[in-house]
Amino acid sequence: MAGAPSGPRPEGATGADGDAEATDDFELPGVPDSFQRLWTPYRMAYIKAGQQQVTDEHSCPFCRAPERSDEESLIVHRGETAFVVLNLFPYNPGHLLVCPYRHVPNYTDVTVEETAEIAALSQHAMRVLRRTANPSGFNLGMNQGTTGGAGIAAHLHQHIVPRWGGDGNFFPIIAQTKAIPATLADVREQIAGAWDTV
Ligand SMILES: [Zn+2]
Repeated sequence: MAGAPSGPRPEGATGADGDAEATDDFELPGVPDSFQRLWTPYRMAYIKAGQQQVTDEHSCPFCRAPERSDEESLIVHRGETAFVVLNLFPYNPGHLLVCPYRHVPNYTDVTVEETAEIAALSQHAMRVLRRTANPSGFNLGMNQGTTGGAGIAAHLHQHIVPRWGGDGNFFPIIAQTKAIPATLADVREQIAGAWDTV
């Protein structure tokens, strides 16, 4: 930089005039700006995992999930032909997915029995969420194909999203970010614990 002082500087220092004053109470270096920070180290798991391409059962998280414990996979209930799991990428706390065990992509691929159980589990999930979280509304739906918005198009899953008045804030609009005020493990425990009492 033209006009900047030469010579060694501490690593990370910018050398600009006035930066020496930009320290916090711990006298750590930093340059304040107008942005707030949400510190979300737990999201590193998603960043490291990346957006894997799901092609078959072996790379499919919905196929792998039932092989692990409920706690590890965030499963809240296992049915005969389908199971209910928390979405790792929740729109709201308690965002559930109802999935057939079979690795099939389309709603037209499921059998009559699977269709009936997916419907029954969806209804029951709504009753449980009403009991545990008292939402004022729900969004239910299946995104079909990547064009239809499915994150994992290869394995059918029905979204159940509890809604509360005012739950949409500016984050998703300006920053593609959702603030979720509860951990997945806590929410799983609440819903799984209430499943057989409703
Ligand atoms: Zn699958």
